[in-house]
Amino acid sequence: MGDYFQTIVDLDATEQDAAPLGAALLDWLIADGIVDAERTDCVLDADGYGNAPGPRYAEAVDDPEPVDLWSNGLHITTGRTVFDSGQGEAGAATCPLCATEIRLVDDTWCPIDSAWAPLAGRFGDWEKGGEGAVECPSCHRSSGIDRWSWEDDYYACGRLGLTFWNWAELTHGFEQEVRRRLGGHRTVTLRGKL
Ligand SMILES: [Zn+2]
Repeated sequence: MGDYFQTIVDLDATEQDAAPLGAALLDWLIADGIVDAERTDCVLDADGYGNAPGPRYAEAVDDPEPVDLWSNGLHITTGRTVFDSGQGEAGAATCPLCATEIRLVDDTWCPIDSAWAPLAGRFGDWEKGGEGAVECPSCHRSSGIDRWSWEDDYYACGRLGLTFWNWAELTHGFEQEVRRRLGGHRTVTLRGKL
């Protein structure tokens, strides 16, 4: 068992627009009845408070069964955050400049230390406001770790994330509407377990 989550991460939101965009999305989700207006103890994020499913929650997911777990809310995170998929490992990272994919695990899905070396510590650096510069082992050019992409969207660096705890799979249409309301920003959806 475990708690399943989906996080829609906005890859383009800036430090300035993350909070207002998050607030506008929450207003829309409450107005449409997707989540309740009241913030309650219903998520597993650090502060423990989120918005439980609302009366029209089923319109956002592909399975209308209600979520009967206590951890069933929406948590909105703002500010520089490295989102991850919880259990497991990232399989590969891809350079944004030359598109070379670096395998990060071996055949038994164990992390390869030498492959991780150029990336080590960069997430922490970026989260603290640094560049998180990674020198690509293939093209030898440097780019921020927030621009790298990850197999199965295992990681995503962003300043705005919507985490839905134990909801059935979000529909394609719902994710599209979220993107539209984010002004057409690029998003990725992480799916994982804790
Ligand atoms: Zn490269």
